[in-house]
Amino acid sequence: MNAEEIAEARRQLAEAMKLLYNRGLINIRGGNASIKISETSFLITPSGLPKHDLKPDDMVVVYFDGKWTGKHRPSIEYRMHAEIYKNNPEVKAVVHAHSPLTLIVGEQGFDIEPYEYVEAYYAIGDCVGRIERLPPGSVELAKRVGEEAKKCRVLILLGHGVIAVAKNIYEAIDALEALEDLAKIVLYRKIYSVSK
Ligand SMILES: [Zn+2]
Repeated sequence: MNAEEIAEARRQLAEAMKLLYNRGLINIRGGNASIKISETSFLITPSGLPKHDLKPDDMVVVYFDGKWTGKHRPSIEYRMHAEIYKNNPEVKAVVHAHSPLTLIVGEQGFDIEPYEYVEAYYAIGDCVGRIERLPPGSVELAKRVGEEAKKCRVLILLGHGVIAVAKNIYEAIDALEALEDLAKIVLYRKIYSVSK
């Protein structure tokens, strides 16, 4: 990316976190997002700062070897983002949120079938991956997510959150929104079938 494109990527990441916060998919200190800016590096949201109010220059450049440059420390999940980009060259953006309804549906083991809801099918593709409980920020989690992202564009990290990988940040957010809508449909269907 040239300097202008990198500046735009920084702006998009700040906007992405606002959108996720306003939609209730992350808490003020939760979640992270990144955009690939070269063959060996990506921009990622910082650790610790309130996520609804990030500024473009708060973003951190992380290299695939783990080195980073910026005003703040990178998100603790930077390894997860790095493994996704290393394993999936076509992925250009990654978003990690803590979508509550998606998590409930994932934990309960209910089926999530994207083709049941046309909007979800376009946004998500035909599969939703599930990853067992692994410590946040760990190398183990990063490796599992990097591998699973080869199969599905969205992954549920049980007891933790969700990941979407895409060609751009808006597609990744769209997938997480569609997944949360789909989870709502699955839950409401269960509730109605029980109360009949
Ligand atoms: Zn998380």
